Amino acid sequence: MEGIIHKALSGFYYVDCGGESVTCRARGKFRHEKLTPLVGDRVSVSLLPDGAGTIDAVLPRKNEFHRPAVANIDTLVIICSGAIPVTDPFLIDRVVAMAERRKCESVICFNKWDLEQPQTLYETYREAGFPTLRVSAETGEGIQALSDLIAGKVCAFTGNSGVGKSSILNRLEPDVVRPVGQVSEKLGRGRHTTRHVELFRLKNEAVVADTPGFSSFEEGADCPPEELQYAFREFLPYLDNCQFLDCAHVKEKGCAVLAALREGKIAQSRHDSYVRLYQQARSVPEWQRK
Ligand code: GDP
Ligand code: ZN
Repeated sequence: MEGIIHKALSGFYYVDCGGESVTCRARGKFRHEKLTPLVGDRVSVSLLPDGAGTIDAVLPRKNEFHRPAVANIDTLVIICSGAIPVTDPFLIDRVVAMAERRKCESVICFNKWDLEQPQTLYETYREAGFPTLRVSAETGEGIQALSDLIAGKVCAFTGNSGVGKSSILNRLEPDVVRPVGQVSEKLGRGRHTTRHVELFRLKNEAVVADTPGFSSFEEGADCPPEELQYAFREFLPYLDNCQFLDCAHVKEKGCAVLAALREGKIAQSRHDSYVRLYQQARSVPEWQRK
């Protein structure tokens, strides 16, 4: 049988085999191979007489994330807010770059649109080529559009606490009640707290990784500096036109990316984030990079 791990807890894996959850143990060989099955992994399972199962194989992954530990995400829904807590565009760009490197589509969702309308930032991401939404979990604006975008996909929601992840998920699927509330009331704040991830199947056949209070905004772009340029999709049309083959697009002469920036074809905030990430990537010694 084949299925998707929808939950992992204390050495047990709960595998969704066509709607039925089978409680599994992983074969010892995985530990030997230092392969940890992740939530989101597609696995093959053999059933034991008592109805429990054994995970025999983990199928090749499309991608994997570490915080939270989850695999095979098609779409990362990045929840931002122009109202408190106001989202820093640099954090959006960092998480977008990380997703781009993992061949994971980013949906940029400006929530709390009923309170604040960060129109310029909205245009920035729309023009850069991302599905971008104006959403309000309060009024319901944009919820259907979001539902349509993630239908049939495996997705994860990310964003700082308080931006409205739980509220949006509750709007998408009112039957599944999740805690909505204050930052301090939630569990799993500390860096060293284990956060458990769980996949939920929504009615539109979207599968959502629910990670209470989780923010993958903590994750770096983790890439060699020379590869970062490919993680900014609106740079791609210009990369071949720079005067120097090894152009860093930071302040080089004859840089086509900088020319596009001056012409307003690339947003200043996006380029600022690129430069900041580039400098961060440069400061990581090569032996420390993955
Ligand atoms: P999370 O930490 O990202 O899961 O955020 P929550 O869903 O817990 O929301 C944090 C607070 O913002 C709650 O008090 C929500 O009622 C409020 N909130 C969430 N979305 C919206 C919205 O679109 N408009 C308004 N006005 N408030 C919202
Ligand atoms: Zn350049």
